[in-house]
Amino acid sequence: MIAELSRWVLAKCPNTRDLTRDELSRYEAKDPLHGWVVPFECKTDRFDLQVVLLQDFPWAKPRVYCTEKFQFMQFPHVEKDGAFCLYPPGTEHNPLNPKGLIWDAIKEATRLIVASYDDAFINDFADEFDSYWSKTEGGKNIVSLLPPGGASRRVSLWRSTVDYYLADDDAALENWLRNRFPGNKKDYSFSTATHIVLKRPILPSEYPKSGAAILRFLRELAPDSMELLADAAETADDRFTVSFEGRTDDGPVFFAIEVMPPIKQGMKAGRRPDMVQKGFRPGKVPIPIRMQRLFGGNKVERHESVRADPSWIHGRDTPTVASLFDKHVLMIGAGSLGSEVALLLAKTGVGSITLVDQERLDYPNVGRHVLGVADVGKSKAKSLAEKLAGSFPHMRSIKYFAEDWQSLFGKRPEVFHNTDLIVSTVGSWVAEGRLNQEAKKAADFPPVIYGWAEPFSVAGHAVLIGSNGPCFACGMDHLGKALQTVCEWDTETTRKQPHCGASFQPYGPVSLSGVAALVAKTTTKALLGEVHPGTETVYWASKEEIAEQGGCFTSDFLNCFSDVPEFGGTRKFEWRQKEDCAFCTGA
Ligand SMILES: [Zn+2]
Repeated sequence: MIAELSRWVLAKCPNTRDLTRDELSRYEAKDPLHGWVVPFECKTDRFDLQVVLLQDFPWAKPRVYCTEKFQFMQFPHVEKDGAFCLYPPGTEHNPLNPKGLIWDAIKEATRLIVASYDDAFINDFADEFDSYWSKTEGGKNIVSLLPPGGASRRVSLWRSTVDYYLADDDAALENWLRNRFPGNKKDYSFSTATHIVLKRPILPSEYPKSGAAILRFLRELAPDSMELLADAAETADDRFTVSFEGRTDDGPVFFAIEVMPPIKQGMKAGRRPDMVQKGFRPGKVPIPIRMQRLFGGNKVERHESVRADPSWIHGRDTPTVASLFDKHVLMIGAGSLGSEVALLLAKTGVGSITLVDQERLDYPNVGRHVLGVADVGKSKAKSLAEKLAGSFPHMRSIKYFAEDWQSLFGKRPEVFHNTDLIVSTVGSWVAEGRLNQEAKKAADFPPVIYGWAEPFSVAGHAVLIGSNGPCFACGMDHLGKALQTVCEWDTETTRKQPHCGASFQPYGPVSLSGVAALVAKTTTKALLGEVHPGTETVYWASKEEIAEQGGCFTSDFLNCFSDVPEFGGTRKFEWRQKEDCAFCTGA
């Protein structure tokens, strides 16, 4: 294949030659197979592109080098080893078209070379900031919980022996650390850092080696933050941390530096203000002079920042995250359905979740529960709360109550009232009929979503009930059986145990996750105001799957469609007001 490709390349590109074995050996680390020198002229300059095929070719794309001019950090889109970064990461290519691959690589490389004549080319460094910025020796990884888009400010810092952690205040930082490291009982001692928002990320030529270099780019990119930084320098006992947020069209980039103590001004913090004040009356040192004195020859270390804030974790800065993060959901029931719903809500970015369940986890639960055997014998609510806290330490609040909701409500009704939404998945009329009654009594009771699965989880329901309109009982008979169901069964046996039916057949957990997704999605939409009280959303599996479980669609359900729904789906229905509802009429 190589011989034929080589003939093709030499014919296609004039004045091209094969790379010598010696020239190829420069790329030894990459396991090269073959290569060519392809000359390219632009303006009056001549560039010798070295096109290198690796052993993995054509599954690996060709690499193109032009290291006499284009070196890492000197130009954007150049990788550490000097190869042009020709395609966005993750770009797929067709390995069955090797000639096309080689030709594309050459074309893309020449396109970059042409672009490099434009002064604005250098700004591409900013858009791919993370590919170039790296920590210096002694630099740390900084886990940042700071939400992007704010102003320059003082923030809270915790230095572990390994990493640094940043949050807006001590309380948020402590909450995160307690969730993340539950075994750690010691007291945390926090210090402050400065977070500065820049108009754009800095370019490699601006990467600071000294305090003075920070001032240079700050003057242009964040002149308003000079005072803040001066403050940080003057109040610091020793080295201090400055975090930066640079805005780009593709979103913000985060990085940080450590400013080491000034050498000339002596190590003792107490004496430093004198050095700064020298020649001026107290408080009268002009800012530029103050800054020069504070930042003269200080060494700096570069840190790498990784974002762990909710907006980044739950959808890489998509806009709905903030509104969900402010919401508080109370979950009644942390069983197989409730635990899955709670986990989905936490993943979606709901910031506060309270779990209420009096049961302990048992072995037969494990097959369908998000908790495993390690938690058997423990409180479902407590173990689930711990799991959520460890997985999502940035969550604002995760609470649990290992008791039934009725006893909790008797003692602490405010736990219910201070939530945005209650989700009940207990599937028992004793519990849910009563909840419906309490909700009906208090005008300011939060909306409630009742979620349940039909036998074998081949269908599921989520009903949103508000303080006005129909109540939950409006769609139920006096034993709490739904008036409208998706499926019915001929046999008595399954009907007797609707809630554990699914555990008898292998697809149970899979089908149940369809119901959990329905309840979680309805909950999220209700929190965002996209679904209104008095709405029932229904999920059903395919006709075939329902038949496999010995069931069929009810005639009521079929009447909703012009054709039999062969495939699974979801649909909204109105939850109708029952004329003689005992709960609504207060009887
Ligand atoms: Zn009613």
